[in-house]
Amino acid sequence: MSSILVVEDEQRISSFVDKGLRASGYSSTVVADGLEAVEHALSGGYDLVLLDIGLPSIDGFEVLRRVRAREQTLPVIMLTARTSVESTVAGLDGGANDYLPKPFRFDELLARVRLRLRDAGQAAITTFTHGSLVLDLRTRRVTVGDRGVDLSAREFALAVEFLRHPDQVLSREQLLSRVWGFDFDPGSNVVDVYVRYLRTKLGADRIETVRGMGYRLA
Ligand code: CA
Repeated sequence: MSSILVVEDEQRISSFVDKGLRASGYSSTVVADGLEAVEHALSGGYDLVLLDIGLPSIDGFEVLRRVRAREQTLPVIMLTARTSVESTVAGLDGGANDYLPKPFRFDELLARVRLRLRDAGQAAITTFTHGSLVLDLRTRRVTVGDRGVDLSAREFALAVEFLRHPDQVLSREQLLSRVWGFDFDPGSNVVDVYVRYLRTKLGADRIETVRGMGYRLA
């Protein structure tokens, strides 16, 4: 069972979140004070932190700064005011993994929590292997047989996406949104261009075209 630390000083919100998380099968602990939150977050007993910004003693940004100074992998989702673009940017710059504008619906919160916990689980995998192809996420080394291959950051991200879903057909739209982000022009042919780069570097038969559908690791 995943254990979630809820840092929120507004009792109405914390109790709503706490109840919802428990009902969804998570273990949840509520803390209403910034300094106390740092102590809890660094205790090693939590898989994810939901962090409000306005808090007694020290605010959420300072909590995040102190936590990140010692712990870089713990997923943190900031709860921000909907109007405050500045605080969202500051939170993400400060090492938050995601943010959720208030007020939010519980299912929105739950979707973010699930996503971040899943990402954290995947981060534990450090090597992907497919036939003679090996990708190391930690060192970012790529080898085909005993030959080392240099990939750009984008090529690497695309290759990881294929290796995460072996034998699955991935559409251009899926690859665009996962590797380039949603703000990319959906009509762009950038995916086809990068698949071509990967074929040149990893072997022409490595990625097959599934006509009208997308690409698949072969
Ligand atoms: Ca608050």
